[in-house]
Amino acid sequence: MSLFIRSAHVITMAEGTSSSPQVLDLRIEGQDIVAIGSDLQPEPRDEILDGRDRLVTPGFVNAHTHSWETVYKGRYDNMPLELWMLYTYPLLGAPPRSPDFVRVRSQLFALESLKSGVTTIVDDVLETPSQDFGQLEAVVDAYERIGIRANVSGHVINVPFVDTVPFAADHLPAEVLHAVRNESLLSAGEYLDYSEQAIRRYHGRGEGRLHYMLAPSAPQRCTPDLLSGAVALAGRHGIECHIHMLETKTQAITGQEFYGMTLPQYLESIQALSRNTTFAHGIWVTDQDIEILANHSASVSHNPISNLKLGSGILPWRKYRDAGVNLGLGTDGCSSSDTPRLLEVIKMASLLHKIGDSDPAAWPSVDETLRAGTLDGAKSAMLDRTVGSLEVGKRADLLVWDLNTLNFTPRQKLDHQLVYSENGSSLEYVMVDGRIVVDHGALTTLDEQEIVDEFNGYLPEIQAWQDRTDELNTVFHPAFSAMYETCRQAPLDINRWAGTADSVLTP
Ligand SMILES: [Zn+2]
Repeated sequence: MSLFIRSAHVITMAEGTSSSPQVLDLRIEGQDIVAIGSDLQPEPRDEILDGRDRLVTPGFVNAHTHSWETVYKGRYDNMPLELWMLYTYPLLGAPPRSPDFVRVRSQLFALESLKSGVTTIVDDVLETPSQDFGQLEAVVDAYERIGIRANVSGHVINVPFVDTVPFAADHLPAEVLHAVRNESLLSAGEYLDYSEQAIRRYHGRGEGRLHYMLAPSAPQRCTPDLLSGAVALAGRHGIECHIHMLETKTQAITGQEFYGMTLPQYLESIQALSRNTTFAHGIWVTDQDIEILANHSASVSHNPISNLKLGSGILPWRKYRDAGVNLGLGTDGCSSSDTPRLLEVIKMASLLHKIGDSDPAAWPSVDETLRAGTLDGAKSAMLDRTVGSLEVGKRADLLVWDLNTLNFTPRQKLDHQLVYSENGSSLEYVMVDGRIVVDHGALTTLDEQEIVDEFNGYLPEIQAWQDRTDELNTVFHPAFSAMYETCRQAPLDINRWAGTADSVLTP
């Protein structure tokens, strides 16, 4: 297929341009953007799209999410991460999911993502109790069929979960402790073998849209040989290594308790930092931590809505930007943010950091947050040579917005209106890899109703095991609650709200 978009308002997000749109023609052939400019001529067989009342932007890149959490949308509220995890990622009683269920769960998640303009997802799958190739294959297959672009992980925790936080294990009943410490865990070698195989099997599937991603859960949740091995393997294959880091105050204290240093210092000491590493969250960092991440050209995925819902804290946006750390934006999973709509995250990031610093010069610009939701997200996913901006030679992952809607009336600054006024309802076309996958709100690749019906068929079964695991895992609640309180009340010399303190840790 070849498409010629004539005289559209285009935000290319290309390096060196601003987010304010220009009137341009754009030509797409097959998967690729082959021409952008003024006064271009269509080829004879091109389909023509009149762009005069349309805005064209790159597709959004969701730089951090977990499709697993789709089954928990709207289920929990008012719990901090350490308690919320006990239920969303239950330690006891979660049955392994069948590949057929994993496929439809992934399709449902991708469907909602695509319909809101997300063309790339960084899906840190985190299957509980563990992931096998049948389940991983099901996710890849779902995304291949529905037509989304994705980095799909094998997520790994290879330390007993009760030993990934300080102060909790001592408060647990001996038999519970015994049970969770006796779960079989992968060795570094086993995880790296699994990942090598996954790269051979899945990397490049879907005509190049699908990539395998390494995902050691967090520094305190994996052994050092696994962390450094995963970062090295990602480097050898030019793919992303995705790690959660410093999401909560408890985790900042964990670094000090376990290693006597901050978690970024620890990762640097074990050679587990590189251009390929993206850290989800990165809230409770010291100024020196930010320097460490900048020195290794690592990225951070900022997830402001999830961070607000779990009361985790506020990432020091301006400090990261000033240090030159690349920031992507993520929704996180549908249990901690309840929707995969990245446009809401872009808006939240644009607004949130205006609080806490009274200097307007420090506030995020629309250009910065739109870039974080597109090109910088693609950078964090190791995909910026392929997508993230509209440039000749890149794949055609783009969105076409109808400007004759109330959200764009009156037409002022279209980039600002996209972020502050638009809610996704003006989306006309969503294109991934040169193919229109959503046309006026309708998925073109699969039968949407079939996905929803099939998923809903599992609902009684899902809710039964959720009720069961909720019940079973309350056994951890008192110990984790006590641990959370200890950390909550620990004096930390930081005013995270203002984002102005020099160091997280009291001397
Ligand atoms: Zn996460």
